[in-house]
Amino acid sequence: METVIEQHAAEAVRSIQNFVGGQWSIPSAAESLPVTNPATGAVLARVPLSKAPDVDVAVQAAYAAFPAWRATPPVERGRILFAVRDRMEAHFNELAHLVTEEHGKTLDDARGSVRRAIENVEVAAGIPSLMMGYGLEDGAARGIDEEVIRQPLGVFAAICPFNFPIMVPFWFWPYAIATGNTFIVKPSEQVPLAMTRVFELLEDVGFPPGVLNLVHGSRETVEALIDHPLVRGVSFVGSTPVAKAVYARAAARGKRVQAQGGAKNVLVIMPDAVLDKTIANVIGSCFGSAGQRCLAGSLIITVGDVHERFVAALRDAAKALRVGNGLEEGTDVGPVISERARERISGSIARGVEEGAHLVLDGRENPVAGGCFLGPTIFEGVRPDMAVAREEIFGPVVGIVHVENLGEALAVIAASPYGNAASIFTQDGAAARTFRYHAPVGNVGINVGVAAPMAYFPFSGAKESFFGTLHAQGRDAIDFYCERKVVITRWF
Ligand code: NAD
Repeated sequence: METVIEQHAAEAVRSIQNFVGGQWSIPSAAESLPVTNPATGAVLARVPLSKAPDVDVAVQAAYAAFPAWRATPPVERGRILFAVRDRMEAHFNELAHLVTEEHGKTLDDARGSVRRAIENVEVAAGIPSLMMGYGLEDGAARGIDEEVIRQPLGVFAAICPFNFPIMVPFWFWPYAIATGNTFIVKPSEQVPLAMTRVFELLEDVGFPPGVLNLVHGSRETVEALIDHPLVRGVSFVGSTPVAKAVYARAAARGKRVQAQGGAKNVLVIMPDAVLDKTIANVIGSCFGSAGQRCLAGSLIITVGDVHERFVAALRDAAKALRVGNGLEEGTDVGPVISERARERISGSIARGVEEGAHLVLDGRENPVAGGCFLGPTIFEGVRPDMAVAREEIFGPVVGIVHVENLGEALAVIAASPYGNAASIFTQDGAAARTFRYHAPVGNVGINVGVAAPMAYFPFSGAKESFFGTLHAQGRDAIDFYCERKVVITRWF
């Protein structure tokens, strides 16, 4: 079968479609945007920007599918997820390739992200156990039993960012569907192709029409989803200003909402850190995926006398990284997502220089022709009040702040508006415990550069990196997508 995406290649550039009520459909949208390969600039397809009437069709389809899907026994819903897993495995390399093509990250990174997506399906497939309630005989009084049951709520939607085209939607939809809800995925308009292919692969996997829907678009589409009275809740991942706006808009309409925002993740290097292993971790954290991970290290704090040794080793290792097309073997750092992003990140580098930080390595001097490339960039002599230390840059740029002790390092982390992740590199258990105890972030790494929670743990986040209480993945996701109903029973 010729895929939707292959048709685009064959017929120059065609617009991709929504998948609603079990059918591919062309949204009424007059507007569309090009989807480009950031490594080459080639236009891969056009993505339609769905409007409120398109959203309404999708929500109505999901709403209509809800009663029968809810009544499908969890064990049967889980069985379909086993089929999803098999389908994804069978197309694993194809999906990773698509992720690299539209996003730019290396094939290794893309494979890792598809693996994480599959792991979420594997966890959600255990839904009969995950969704169970609990009860207590004579729990209310003698002869009166009390129990909790989990029930799905109806239609949910996920609004996704560009940096993980497949993985982030899979933090949400498998759990929502497994619990008996119906769902709408809204991928990032910058990377809609990989999820479109996933939907093609899942077309005949066993979901009744309307259970799982795909709607393309941008801000207007998102607002229509949040505003739709039949949508019970939204899961969001993206930048902090948009996370805040989505949270406020959904909450004002009485909806459930979990909104994961931006980040400025700190890596603390203690004097006793094992240098070679620490450098390898820090390089992966700061420059992997060209720094476009929400868990990317973007501020390093060196503590005490490790500073000189660390900076020299980091510069040498970063210099050795190969910048290029993520599809090519041997590439370490792919392009950033767009020319606009490249200009924005270059602007942040220029601002760091103006603020007086010292450029140890300037990624603007490492241009690779033809795409949105920027090399690894390192600033030394950064003060915590500089923009380069405070603001999310979301590119291969890292600043280094030097302090005398762990307390000062923790104070820098505490002063940040963000709270996604922080890591410490040390062999000292007491220092690690102090760090874990006090670091005001959702995800902590101890000698781990990218503290990415597995599917059966919540993908945490704090402060302006997360708005809500229940996180993505695992048991948090089950609770987010379910009502906990209490039943108290007495028989006369
Ligand atoms: P973004 O905020 O620009 O877009 C995210 C989504 O929101 C997209 O689907 C987009 O169409 C939609 N959107 C954009 N503007 C909107 C508006 N004004 N109103 C409603 N919807 C709008 O984010 P991005 O650039 O695609 O992704 C990168 C950001 O995501 C970074 O800040 C990164 O840190 C963050 N991120 C966070 C996590 C996490 O777990 N905390 C994970 C991945 C990415």
